[in-house]
Amino acid sequence: MAAGTFKGGIHPYEGKELTKDKPTTLLLPKGDLVYPMSQHIGNPAKPIVAKGDKVLVGQKIGEADGVVSACIISSVSGTVKAVEPRLNVAGTMVESIVVENDNAYTQVEGFGVERDYETLKKEQIRSIIKEAGIVGMGGAGFPTHIKLTPKDDSAIDYLIINGSECEPYLTSDYRMMLEETNRLIKGIKITLRLFENAKAIIAVEDNKPEAISMLTHALRNENRIELKVIKTKYPQGAERVLIYAITGRKMNSTMLPSDIGCIVNNVDTMISVCRAVAENTPLIKRVVTVSGDAVKNQGNFIVLTGTNYSELVEAVGGFSAKPAKLISGGPMMGLALYSLDIPVTKTSSALLAFASDEVADMEEGPCIRCGRCVEVCPGRIVPQKLMEFAERFDDKGFEGLNGMECCECGCCSYICPAGRHLTQAFKQSKRSILNERKK
Ligand code: SF4
Ligand code: SF4
Repeated sequence: MAAGTFKGGIHPYEGKELTKDKPTTLLLPKGDLVYPMSQHIGNPAKPIVAKGDKVLVGQKIGEADGVVSACIISSVSGTVKAVEPRLNVAGTMVESIVVENDNAYTQVEGFGVERDYETLKKEQIRSIIKEAGIVGMGGAGFPTHIKLTPKDDSAIDYLIINGSECEPYLTSDYRMMLEETNRLIKGIKITLRLFENAKAIIAVEDNKPEAISMLTHALRNENRIELKVIKTKYPQGAERVLIYAITGRKMNSTMLPSDIGCIVNNVDTMISVCRAVAENTPLIKRVVTVSGDAVKNQGNFIVLTGTNYSELVEAVGGFSAKPAKLISGGPMMGLALYSLDIPVTKTSSALLAFASDEVADMEEGPCIRCGRCVEVCPGRIVPQKLMEFAERFDDKGFEGLNGMECCECGCCSYICPAGRHLTQAFKQSKRSILNERKK
């Protein structure tokens, strides 16, 4: 039986009122475009252009390399200035293609031409999605053509569309549900063609009444797509949590959603599937929320991939106060930024700037054994005990206490009165264990 919510979780300040009523506006880049070859989970793409080459809008410039990888597509026309390592959002140097925009936006042949998706075979749909470079746009960047190719199509009975957007401040998916309702539904219908026994559920948190009303109206004649309103609680949008809230099915870190008959996709990813399959338009842009108390005029922007983050700051009129913290993505699971000289990628949902850094301002103290972290953990693990193993770099002990089931949601760190950097420590332990497993 569907649960509708989950045990644990937190209710942080939402901050969504800053941008939720700001319609998206197109931001055209001024400077060079930088396309990291790694904008997804899996092998980086291989550059297939060289310095001096001319490229067009919609042209593939990076080829997917290996089973889990994704193509990279140029979002502008212009000339390749360099193929070299550049700083990416994670603070590492990544092989990137730098394109000087000619501002002509000349497109490859056939770009944007409508296609009759109802006559396409499954392999054709998957191949188009792969060539369009589509990845999960909610943050993880899992290549969509892989996600949509489970062992057995007929065993999938739920296609879950994550419209919960439970991270504070983010409103990019919310705006898409309002502004791109038809494309969203078309993208879901295209995806449902792959899974003959599935029904689609769009999951929306109850703090989004306008999106709920818009979708309810748009879905009135759809018999394979339903809307499910779920409780507003963080991390409602985490894949495992969402699957449980919708289906009551449980999974652990060794399983894929498809093992329990589910495929989960983000709203913007479904819209990108519609664009690619029905409109011959690859993934070259996304919606980015620019918000936080240090931002002058918060808003939502349609941004071409490769655009420099500093251009987003320019678009909002700069900062109203010196930012103490910059984050790419949501405040709970996003990445802290040390430079704005990095490009927007397929997984960039937001740029947040805050005048103070509450985490850095708080001194870390010893655990007072209050148990609050245990109460909020959606993974039903014991963060307080897990921390003892993480601090001792005891990977065996960490695994033994189900540390790999941590989804890195940050609820425990958020609630901890002692300011313990729990999630950060768990992230490091998980990376270390995963690296060991690869050896
Ligand atoms: S232990 Fe992991 S899953 Fe549990 S609250 Fe902390 S970060 Fe979230
Ligand atoms: S919330 Fe913090 S202080 Fe309380 S038990 Fe957990 S780690 Fe210890």
